[in-house]
Amino acid sequence: MRPRAFTLDLDDTLWPIEPTLRRAEAALRGWLAEHAPATLAGCGDAGMLRLRAQVALDHPELAHDLSTLRLITIHRALVAAGDDPALAEPAFEAFMAARQQVTWFDDVRPALDRLAAHGPLLAVSNGNAELAPTGLAPWFAGSVSARSTGVAKPDARIFAAACAQLGCRPDEVMHIGDDWRADIHGAREAGLHSAWVRRAELPLRDDSGGLGGQHRLLAAPPPPAGHHLEVPHLLALADWLDAL
Ligand SMILES: [Mg+2]
Repeated sequence: MRPRAFTLDLDDTLWPIEPTLRRAEAALRGWLAEHAPATLAGCGDAGMLRLRAQVALDHPELAHDLSTLRLITIHRALVAAGDDPALAEPAFEAFMAARQQVTWFDDVRPALDRLAAHGPLLAVSNGNAELAPTGLAPWFAGSVSARSTGVAKPDARIFAAACAQLGCRPDEVMHIGDDWRADIHGAREAGLHSAWVRRAELPLRDDSGGLGGQHRLLAAPPPPAGHHLEVPHLLALADWLDAL
């Protein structure tokens, strides 16, 4: 089996998401300190997290749209503190600018050079990182996001949208990602081949949702659909492709 094209997860596959989000939260706090200090004082770190969780509960229909959930959260915090709710947009932009400042894992640059030699690369992400500001644009043919398709991984429709954009059948595409449920199980259910990137530098975690580290507990083995690989980093995947 030789894939004709590749879809790649972004967060925790190409860069660690936890420090990225920590910096973005800090940037948001810095912005609020300058422009809406009452909101910062009224909310605090824990308060913002609680508010963010409440907004997610209130808007299950936006589960695929982290950007809008974040914007609503900031809006609510501003209103609660009596600040101008029109500040939500520029505050969100301060968050997003920092959220796009990612630090790639060491193998990413050389691995993308080698992967791109085997076929077009398409980003498939549930998060709100974008190709140009994260530096990925030179290697990628495009991107499909949960926000743009209206559904998040592991929903098969986001993988179908990616294959359509690549002009490939699902069984011609390999999806590469870190999350067993969203990336690997989702891709296989949609008929794609899969490569599970299990980075030693990511902390283990026990849950099976959200962002921020490798899964410790594994679900049942995936169904025997397409080809499946497990690799410690992207260069190992490039080695496998080179050897085909
Ligand atoms: Mg990921």
